[in-house]
Amino acid sequence: MANQDIRGNLERVQAAIARACARVGRSPEEVLLIAVSKTVEVDRIRLAVAAGVPALGENRVQEAREKIETLGRPVPWHLIGPLQTNKAKDAVRLFDWIHSVDRLELARELDRRARALGRTVDVLLEVNAGEEPQKSGARADEIKPLLDAISGLSGIRIRGLMAIPPAASDPDQSRPHFRRLRELRDAAGLEHLSMGMSADFEVALEEGATMVRVGTAIFGPRPVRGS
Ligand SMILES: *Cc1c(COP(=O)(O)O)cnc(C)c1O
Repeated sequence: MANQDIRGNLERVQAAIARACARVGRSPEEVLLIAVSKTVEVDRIRLAVAAGVPALGENRVQEAREKIETLGRPVPWHLIGPLQTNKAKDAVRLFDWIHSVDRLELARELDRRARALGRTVDVLLEVNAGEEPQKSGARADEIKPLLDAISGLSGIRIRGLMAIPPAASDPDQSRPHFRRLRELRDAAGLEHLSMGMSADFEVALEEGATMVRVGTAIFGPRPVRGS
């Protein structure tokens, strides 16, 4: 089954990225493919790195810690899942990018922990694109006040926005959310837009994503788990 063929899967994803970019006159060079390796064991992550994935994404700090201790940092690691304030210290130590900053309290703690390590961490503000009550992420009207409050913090650098639009049966249903996110990103004067997963990264790229987070299409289906 092709799902075990990480190198072949990666090539197919890269080709799809190139096609989506070509459709809207973008260069694939301006897009970062983040291979989402949650639940994937280290041997298979190693294969993905050998095949040339440019970045890895994990959604749980604890799980990522074990993997990073084993694999080191052959490519940058991105935290893409929700972050509790009490894990900020570990997150700053482990990750190059944090996509899930959605409240000032968390931003302040990341800033404090990053400065203690003498570094500046690149972060994205997570936006609750569909305004779904059960999902994390700031509301659109909270972006500007958050940016203003965070701009004075030297330990974190806000590089863009991240979002997970509401689940959809057809990727085109996500297009209006992606388009709106791009408008929010532009209004905020930021560079990056992390949006698009296995099912909808091509639409996200057509709408301006600069980072796509792709797990299943590279590593195959994940075992079902609690969250
Ligand atoms: C799991 C996950 C992904 C990747 O999802 P796939 O559908 O497997 O590509 C992307 N973003 C986030 C935040 C995730 O948790």
